[in-house]
Amino acid sequence: MIVKSQWIPLQLLADQALLVHLPGRHANRAAIEDDLARRRAGWRGEQALSYYLSFLRPERYRIFYDLRLTIQAHAFQIDALLLSPSLAAIIEVKNFTGTVYFESLFDQMIRVAGDRQETFPNPIVQVKRQRDMLNKWLSAHRLPELPIECLVTIANVSTMIKSASNSAGEWVCHAEHLESRLKKYEQRNHKRILGLSALQQLETALLENHTDPQPDVLKKFAVSSTDLIRGVRCPNCGTFEVERAYGTWVCKSCSKKSKDAHVPMILDYFLLKGSTMTNKQCREFLKISDHQLVTRLLRKTPIKIGGSGRGIGQYYMAPPHEYFDQQYQRFRQNRQKRIF
Ligand SMILES: [Zn+2]
Repeated sequence: MIVKSQWIPLQLLADQALLVHLPGRHANRAAIEDDLARRRAGWRGEQALSYYLSFLRPERYRIFYDLRLTIQAHAFQIDALLLSPSLAAIIEVKNFTGTVYFESLFDQMIRVAGDRQETFPNPIVQVKRQRDMLNKWLSAHRLPELPIECLVTIANVSTMIKSASNSAGEWVCHAEHLESRLKKYEQRNHKRILGLSALQQLETALLENHTDPQPDVLKKFAVSSTDLIRGVRCPNCGTFEVERAYGTWVCKSCSKKSKDAHVPMILDYFLLKGSTMTNKQCREFLKISDHQLVTRLLRKTPIKIGGSGRGIGQYYMAPPHEYFDQQYQRFRQNRQKRIF
């Protein structure tokens, strides 16, 4: 059963938001596009992983997607954590085309696609580190220890996996062989360690301690906040020529009307600038002059008010990750011209 759902990564959405608001000829555009392409491939890999996990009987495991925990000020993120009364399994997914070669001498992974060779950190090392950190995290929270298995899955069945040593096979498989791997783990960890209440306690602790990553793309790609294109973007033609008229948004460029063109802009604010937004910051980013209009528009969303008192001490807080995911799905279905 899925305990923590899989949602589109916020960093991917932040890259998209940055490209939407970046002036056409910005020097770092290519670097952002590269990063976005890599994150999209990663996201397709994560979706492939959830596809294969959907074949498991729901009562077999409690599944947590994209769990991000912190131990001694270090955060670690797990693509999928599977929990049963007898074991935990950390699953990392990689989505590469071509051939991946696991090289143990220097602990690196080499990807060969066509005549291009690229080196990456070895995901086996990465997944073992996650296991160590999860072990530390469990003991720091005085939670019961249980055997932790870890596995790197390669999302694409047509990716060729190679290694000079046999040991890589112990840690890596194609995602389609996931179920048989899990059977193997169950055979060697058959002893039931957690009762129902301990399992429940662990589940609650994992969910309560999860924190979403805070994207910081402006800093990462050296984009100045003042360079960003502001205003409300037309969901139909993509220009920022939208104006408020008679309770709706009207595009001066293509004349299309929209009820909710402001929603993706507000989400972009949180993705680009941080987890809080005042009424004034919202007006500046969306180029709205009416204080009350912002209040009315935001009241119709799940975006909540934080801070103290009335007026100046108040701000809006970024909505839950799930809301970003829902809006992304909705805009994709409507085939509106976001860069998804
Ligand atoms: Zn338009």
